[in-house]
Amino acid sequence: MTQETVNVLIIGSGPAGYTAAIYAARANLNPVLYQGGQPGGQLTITTDVENFPGYPEGVMGPQMMMDLQEQAARFGTDIRNGMATSVNFSSYPHRVIIDEAHEIEAKSVIISTGAAAKWLGLPSEERLNGKGVSACAVCDGFFFRGADVAIVGGGDTAAEEASYLSKLCNKVYMLVRRDELRASAIMQHRVHNAKNIEVLWNTQTDEILGQEEVEGIRVIDNTTGEKREISVQGFFVAIGHKPNTEIFEDYLDMDENGYIKTVPGTSRTNIEGVFASGDAQDHVYRQAVTAAGTGCMAALDAERFLAAKEVGIVEGIPTIAMKE
Ligand code: NDP
Repeated sequence: MTQETVNVLIIGSGPAGYTAAIYAARANLNPVLYQGGQPGGQLTITTDVENFPGYPEGVMGPQMMMDLQEQAARFGTDIRNGMATSVNFSSYPHRVIIDEAHEIEAKSVIISTGAAAKWLGLPSEERLNGKGVSACAVCDGFFFRGADVAIVGGGDTAAEEASYLSKLCNKVYMLVRRDELRASAIMQHRVHNAKNIEVLWNTQTDEILGQEEVEGIRVIDNTTGEKREISVQGFFVAIGHKPNTEIFEDYLDMDENGYIKTVPGTSRTNIEGVFASGDAQDHVYRQAVTAAGTGCMAALDAERFLAAKEVGIVEGIPTIAMKE
């Protein structure tokens, strides 16, 4: 196994990772960034991004990620292909294995591995992804102004996104597989109070209809087995996200869904020198701009940590001797 030592290791290449890289590189910390399995992250599978500040005409998701990559590279970030496959945070410096072949000894680690939307797994869902099928109402709802849409899920995300869509769309069908919502009372209240949201209970999606774009859905009533078709132009999936944090499970405090816990108002995790940013630690906002914001925080926190480490001070935590 090959080995090297780095000051700042950034894992992940979404808005959080690249923003952390821009800040760390400009602070002369020589960051190394591994892009992971989906270089550019979730934004590479969206089309127009119209809510990222600074792009008055909007920008295509993949283009925005190329711009961020270029900006991170411009200041000297060492951007590499590769996937962190395991970590050992039990001693300092931290150890991260890349592609099971390369060991990095990292004086600080910024985790920005993101999250992945869960999908139903239908072939039509995959085929029409980005052509009317979306896992983000806040990102894509605007394209369905005045249209009829459907959203799958009964949790807080689905309820929140259904009420968001109800303000833009003509009609919102909410497809709930059981006879009750999992969402909190306040979110349920919002759903039931919106005149143009129709909850279809005990309903599952059989197929999304349309070749080039979404034209409708075929749904099944779980109690009777009856199938029927509904005309919609947009299909939103809101059945949860899964943070990409499995490899950190043995070391980092996480909530019950696997989101990394950070000290409020910071990017610090329970392990000193390990910082978390973006969707890997945020199940509430999950926006490119908030991910970028926390990436910035992580780089600044890492910079301060390294500076304190150099003079042997780490606030409130016994200092671990640095290896020469
Ligand atoms: P949840 O896991 O809470 O809910 C997922 C929903 O999708 C459930 O209703 C589930 O049904 C349904 N579902 C799962 N798989 C399928 C499937 N294959 N077909 C049809 N339906 C399916 O995920 P959320 O993203 O909604 O929320 C995640 C966490 O984030 C929660 O803790 C939530 O409270 C929190 N959150 C908080 C918000 C806020 O406070 N404003 C906003 C958004 C999220 P079933 O109930 O039958 O399992």
